[in-house]
Amino acid sequence: MARNVEIKARVSNVEAIRRKAAAVADKGPVEITQDDTFFRCESGRLKLRAFSSDEGELIFYRRADEQGPKESFYLMSPTSAPDTLRESLSLAYGQTGRVRKHRTLFLAGRTRIHLDQVEGLGSFLELEVVLEDGEAAESGIREAHILIERLGVQSTQLMRGAYVDLLAQGASNPSTQSGPGLGQERPGEIACGEKRMSDSVSYGGCQCGSIRFELSRSALELYVCHCKECRKQAASAFGISVIVPRAAFRLTQGTPKFWSRATDAGHTLECAFCPDCGSRLWHQQRGNAETISVKGGSLDEPVDLRRAVHIWTSRMLPGIIVPEGAAQFPGEPE
Ligand SMILES: [Zn+2]
Ligand SMILES: [Zn+2]
Repeated sequence: MARNVEIKARVSNVEAIRRKAAAVADKGPVEITQDDTFFRCESGRLKLRAFSSDEGELIFYRRADEQGPKESFYLMSPTSAPDTLRESLSLAYGQTGRVRKHRTLFLAGRTRIHLDQVEGLGSFLELEVVLEDGEAAESGIREAHILIERLGVQSTQLMRGAYVDLLAQGASNPSTQSGPGLGQERPGEIACGEKRMSDSVSYGGCQCGSIRFELSRSALELYVCHCKECRKQAASAFGISVIVPRAAFRLTQGTPKFWSRATDAGHTLECAFCPDCGSRLWHQQRGNAETISVKGGSLDEPVDLRRAVHIWTSRMLPGIIVPEGAAQFPGEPE
């Protein structure tokens, strides 16, 4: 099976990148229209890619998160009757998504450079480095990063997710479809195949979905706080503080309201919440430009609390058990 490493970035100035890509490429541009249909499949992903009415390929692949290895694995079968094949597979298994795009393809050595205009999503740059048998993914990732720099793409433009998933997110949450929540830059992502390798980007939002944000870094620190203020703000057993650099936080949709309170240390804490559903989202200390505290329950991906530091355990609710070996402080840590 073939393996590759993939990086994806949202781009706005397609023409500028096209010129740079042409300069670094040995081959291209080749203009391709692709119509991808995804079918229900338990053991991986099954996709029919149609180039025209008499040319297409059926692709089975597994993503990194389903298989363990960090690269994707794929198998490709050419077909001369994509429409019939689509119909059979749709009847047999059912469709789970469809992605139509125009792709401009360049080849630079063993790397495929894709400039994609995706219907309903926008413009993207994708790099695919084909790995040798037994080659470590890291060397492919390095190669992709060098190239992406030469194409003038900033790391803040890197993003994650397969087009089909991005479209599905838009469909399941219509409020993000035209708003800035979807189709904005999603920084920090290194994708392998169609699945991210780094988990350094995370997304979050309020309960009703009107406020969305993203974090381009993983947590600097992670606290579970059992103090009374945190119980009140969370309206639950404890507060979860995911401390990230302020620069890594980006509001992508909606306008929060702020409620402020004085802290014991004499600072003012500004607490952001959704004016519609009331979810508490993040706290920032007035005047502190360095970090903010994102409320852990607002993140889409569950926060792994095994490495959290527990503070104010002296105020912990009866029945809460701190995992063995976890750092804990009866009050505020020194
Ligand atoms: Zn809300
Ligand atoms: Zn607290």
